[in-house]
Amino acid sequence: MKILDGKKISQDIKDELKILVSNRLKKGLKKPHLAAIIVGNDGASLTYVGSKVKACDYVGYDSTLIKLEESITEKFLLEKINNLNNNPHIDGFIVQLPLPRGIDEQKILLAIDPYKDVDGFHPTNFGRMSLEMESFVPATPYGIIELLDRYEIETSGKDCVVIGRSNIVGRPISILLSQKSKKGNATVTLAHSKTKNLKSITKNADIIISALGIPGFLKSDMVKKGVVIIDVGITRVPTQSSPKGYIIKGDVDYQNVLEKSSAITPVPGGVGPMTISMLLKNTFLACQRKD
Ligand code: NAP
Repeated sequence: MKILDGKKISQDIKDELKILVSNRLKKGLKKPHLAAIIVGNDGASLTYVGSKVKACDYVGYDSTLIKLEESITEKFLLEKINNLNNNPHIDGFIVQLPLPRGIDEQKILLAIDPYKDVDGFHPTNFGRMSLEMESFVPATPYGIIELLDRYEIETSGKDCVVIGRSNIVGRPISILLSQKSKKGNATVTLAHSKTKNLKSITKNADIIISALGIPGFLKSDMVKKGVVIIDVGITRVPTQSSPKGYIIKGDVDYQNVLEKSSAITPVPGGVGPMTISMLLKNTFLACQRKD
């Protein structure tokens, strides 16, 4: 049984990017520059953005963090986005989700220049990805594909079940796995909260991608022997036993499912770190495109 070590692979990718950045500098080319907008004081969002900025420092990118008050208007945020769209020094930027109530997330994502949309959430990028054209692929699904690739896990001809149909994880990974591509060619079932008899579906799966956000949801009796499991779930479960007051749990009942699986991602240390390194990879591509 293989533990798919996202922390290690993510580190490898960051080290590869570090070399690419230093090669750019030797050629007199600029450093990639990623900007992030965060609105409000949500603890998890601040942690994610903080990790992204730290990762930029590590690989040698410039980064700009724009922190905005929870009380800002949609119009103000749109102006900030417009500034970043028109700033020639910024190669790519993200708007950390979720946004406070009263700000229309779709309107915000639509305002981002698709050429700077390194999260890959703009309909132009999503559409291009779906049509197998060059695009920014959303970082979490991109990270899953990269993890499968680096661990040489075969997807072609496999029965794959994706649980969860969000626009940022479930839906895009189901599209990628079904494409005519190196880490595609799978037969994909996309399950969600209205799916009936989920257990009968997951029990036949060669690969399960779980992205629903319910800790310990996927149990041992729901999977077959030899299954590959990718656990995307990240839930903060409150506990007094941790100094932080919570522990991070995935969607998979890890200890029980472990012995049945042929490969599995841990939480933390699986898909999470991959998401950050793939965002950096998209930023590098954005910078390269501008050359
Ligand atoms: P989301 O937008 O909350 O969507 C959850 C999906 O799960 C929905 O499609 C929902 O179905 C489905 N679902 C809920 N209960 C279900 C059930 N009992 N059976 C089957 N499907 C069910 O989720 P998300 O944003 O994709 O996030 C999912 C998890 O991944 C969260 O824990 C999140 O924190 C984590 N995440 C991790 C990363 C990373 O970097 N590792 C990145 C993003 C998200 P309906 O559509 O029918 O409501």
